[in-house]
Amino acid sequence: MPKKRILITGGCGFLGSHLCDRFLSEGYKVICMDNLLTGSPENIAHLIGNEDFKFIKHDVTNFIYVPGDLDYVLHFASPASPIDYLEMPIQTLKVGSLGTHKALGLAKEKNARFLLASTSEVYGDPQIHPQKEDYWGNVNPIGFRGVYDEAKRFAEAMTMGYHRYHGLETRIVRIFNTYGSRMRLKDGRALPTFMRQALKGNPITVFGDGSQTRSFTYVDDLVEGIYRLLLSDEVEPVNIGNPQEVTILEFAKEIVELTGSSSQIIHEELPDDDPKVRQPDISKARRVLDWEPAVDRKKGLNKTLSYFKQQVDKTDG
Ligand code: UDP
Repeated sequence: MPKKRILITGGCGFLGSHLCDRFLSEGYKVICMDNLLTGSPENIAHLIGNEDFKFIKHDVTNFIYVPGDLDYVLHFASPASPIDYLEMPIQTLKVGSLGTHKALGLAKEKNARFLLASTSEVYGDPQIHPQKEDYWGNVNPIGFRGVYDEAKRFAEAMTMGYHRYHGLETRIVRIFNTYGSRMRLKDGRALPTFMRQALKGNPITVFGDGSQTRSFTYVDDLVEGIYRLLLSDEVEPVNIGNPQEVTILEFAKEIVELTGSSSQIIHEELPDDDPKVRQPDISKARRVLDWEPAVDRKKGLNKTLSYFKQQVDKTDG
């Protein structure tokens, strides 16, 4: 049996590079595509020279050409943190819309199964808690986060369009806040920011009063969920996330404790449209994928600490 070939867009990013590793270890040939806007070649440096791995530098908002057969296309390319949306609103919109269209077109051409990286952001500032897949969301289309949220909502619609109209095999994963090695130290998200601040002994910047909640998933759990979803028959979206919910203030305190830091917690202004709560209902993932997270936050944060220590030492924060 020839090895299966999989294309991963955004393969140099945090999640994309972990997926490259996973599919290589499962015996696939992996083509990683990235324009390196927010992804980093460092994330795949260890794979260069592996004969089953190929990197193509390309912006997927333009026509995608890949020679040879493909069995799977995973569309993970996108800026993915609130400060990216402020700095790169048009690219964020384009990769979720035009990029999804191009990636779907490629999957159709190759008769490959397509998987979309969607997001809990499709639920916006949710009025239903925890969030189930049948909730339609509460998104401000013109807010600064709207460029990401609406592009991903469009991407889901486009994916279902290709499935219904062209009969393409498609999968949609709704990803909740995920953490682990290879996150950018300065991507502005809560976890890398708090880690950097704590390790350097700087004040920890909690936005607002910190009563807003998030539910953080360790990257290996997410990758396992995506792997199972890809190989399942489930066409409609599936939440993959750890339901262990925490307030941001509590989370900041956990990181101070974990790092043994003397940092003080300070409060800064809450950004517009910051969702007040977020927690996945994962009954569907449990039922159709027999998946649930295996790594709780304490264990996951411990596993992640050495990566952030290295990064802080390397870049001097
Ligand atoms: N946050 C914070 N301080 C920071 C960065 C983020 O208090 O330095 C808050 C942010 O306002 C949000 C939560 O932490 O309520 C998670 O933010 P993140 O950017 O990690 O992800 P998202 O808002 O997309 O879930």
